[in-house]
Amino acid sequence: MGRRRVLAALAAAIVVAAQDAASLQRQRMVAEQIQTRGIRNADVLRVMRATPRHLFVPPEIRHEVYQDRPLPIGYQATISQPYIVALMTELLAPAKNHRVLEIGTGSGYQAAVLAQLAARVYSIEIVPELAQSATRTLRDLGYANVQVRQGDGYKGWPEQAPFDRVILTAAPPEIPDALIAQLAKGGRLVAPVGPLRDQDLIVVEKKPDGSVQRRSMGGVRFIPMRPGTK
Ligand code: SAH
Repeated sequence: MGRRRVLAALAAAIVVAAQDAASLQRQRMVAEQIQTRGIRNADVLRVMRATPRHLFVPPEIRHEVYQDRPLPIGYQATISQPYIVALMTELLAPAKNHRVLEIGTGSGYQAAVLAQLAARVYSIEIVPELAQSATRTLRDLGYANVQVRQGDGYKGWPEQAPFDRVILTAAPPEIPDALIAQLAKGGRLVAPVGPLRDQDLIVVEKKPDGSVQRRSMGGVRFIPMRPGTK
């Protein structure tokens, strides 16, 4: 073999080894952080093992991304803790025919997880730079059924409503009326709600008759949702 082909083969081997290492880290992440805390949904566990979380963050923090905590990704945003992504996905219970609205695209990681469990994901991000980088990441990784747009999550995405599922990954003081309005009958919304140090994870169900029920799943800590432009 010529030197160039040796180098190409070596580079390919390094890429495969890095992928294997990340995949092993994900097996451990799911076993140690997610299953031990009671997440049982087989589809959620499978997708958490499959989604390359390290490719959704800047290279400088890639080595930390499988740890049991959220990580800052710039612009006051974070990529959520793996367990929280799994918990919210399990509570949301997306199905293959569902249209899902996400508020707070951030890195695009939660959107990628949902994309593998639903028909289409619409995700809104208020920070233009994050909306752009998440769009690029999702496209490069082949998640073709996700659409990201820069905008104010308080308004939702009326042109694409109604949604079978709505998920918020930043915490508003109260669930925005527009998002309840854009939820389909029989639909479900999952959101952290409340002030910075006193947020609850809330599950809202819209019954077939249009009435709304909510229950709290306990305390969580998310970044606050930014007030939108009026
Ligand atoms: N789901 C993300 C987590 C992002 S953190 C992930 O998987 O990485 C929450 C995100 O909500 C931040 O990126 C923040 O910029 C965004 N955000 C805050 N207020 C918002 C608003 N009013 N509308 C849309 N996005 C908002």
